Amino acid sequence: MKTRSRDAQRPDCARSVCPYCAVGCGQLVYHRDGKVTSIEGDPESPINAGTLCPKGSASKELVTHEGRLIWAKVRRPGASEWERIPLEQAMDEIAERTWASRNRNWVDRDADTGERIGHTTAVAHLGGATLDNEENYLIKKLFTAGLGMVAVSNQARI
Ligand code: SF4
Repeated sequence: MKTRSRDAQRPDCARSVCPYCAVGCGQLVYHRDGKVTSIEGDPESPINAGTLCPKGSASKELVTHEGRLIWAKVRRPGASEWERIPLEQAMDEIAERTWASRNRNWVDRDADTGERIGHTTAVAHLGGATLDNEENYLIKKLFTAGLGMVAVSNQARI
């Protein structure tokens, strides 16, 4: 499919960024009736000028492949079997446990000096290289300013 720069103005086309790696190639995502029909390189992107590598070219399957996982698995304490749970439930459980760990291990003041610290070192976050600037900004705001986490890093630094 040959893309043209004016395709981005079409109602059935949305501009996006390839989620596979930190290069951040621009994509045009074509859709019909709420479903993705094709993903092409964005000719107006200064990063890739309309091209996509094999991974980016196959990114449509990220959302359309029949083998895509749409659930999570959890092995409860003491259990020998994995339990399949909906993604929404998994997100709720992760959020609850993160908050509980943060509260259980909260350090309000330095034990020696009494100075205010207000942080936890019990929870850490390691982001992936596909996260963009805006996502990393929000992650840092949420985890450090919101939860008091000091161990926030990214794969791109390693
Ligand atoms: S198209 Fe390839 S090089 Fe570009 S962001 Fe995606 S994976 Fe990376």
